[in-house]
Amino acid sequence: MDSVASRLALAIHHVRAVSGLMVPAACLRYTRRMATRVDLRCQCGALRGVATDIAPDQGMHIVCYCDDCQAFARFLGRDDVLDASGGTAIFQTRPAHLGITDGGEHLRCMRLSDKGMLRWYAGCCRTPIANTMSSARVPFAGVITSFIAPPEGASKEKLLGPVIAKLMAKFALGQPPVDAHTTTPVSFGLRIVKFLVVGLVQGKASPSPFFDAHTRTPVVTPQVLSPAERNALRPT
Ligand SMILES: [Zn+2]
Ligand SMILES: [Zn+2]
Repeated sequence: MDSVASRLALAIHHVRAVSGLMVPAACLRYTRRMATRVDLRCQCGALRGVATDIAPDQGMHIVCYCDDCQAFARFLGRDDVLDASGGTAIFQTRPAHLGITDGGEHLRCMRLSDKGMLRWYAGCCRTPIANTMSSARVPFAGVITSFIAPPEGASKEKLLGPVIAKLMAKFALGQPPVDAHTTTPVSFGLRIVKFLVVGLVQGKASPSPFFDAHTRTPVVTPQVLSPAERNALRPT
């Protein structure tokens, strides 16, 4: 998904550049409805941020049972963020909707392989933050919902909407939920492609808390695991 998304991002970037779509995209940002603001917070509270447009119609609330998401939680020593079947709850949104306000020095990044997604976390308490592609051009950030702090009295379900897809259940621990998909269904893959295309046209890849605006490189050098380190973290 990473390289396909990167190529798609580059292609749409060129189309925008030559067609003058930059201006309408900028206008769109000012004509949208009032943005909601939601707090982001690691478990210990040292790393904090805000998110805008965290709402059911602005992203996808999913649970991923894949072996890589489970390995990430185990790398962090945070199996507690996984559900009983090893699932990670994620809200898929845009990098431009996320910002870090406090404790940015605690931001860390790892990859399960040199071609894997960038997996961001708070080094202070090893709270998972988000998964992104390796390219700064891709308008995608899968925020692990344990990093989202709903307003007092509001549930995550109310804020994010119900879980719309349970994916990659072939890696689930024990018996997965009956409504979980073994892999990622084509219909959901197409939904992601649409999400990426709309995000690219609207210029939602940046600003990003994860990539330098000028160099487009990760703001923290990712730690890349060796195959042996990665395999030791995967479910058996
Ligand atoms: Zn922390
Ligand atoms: Zn996953």
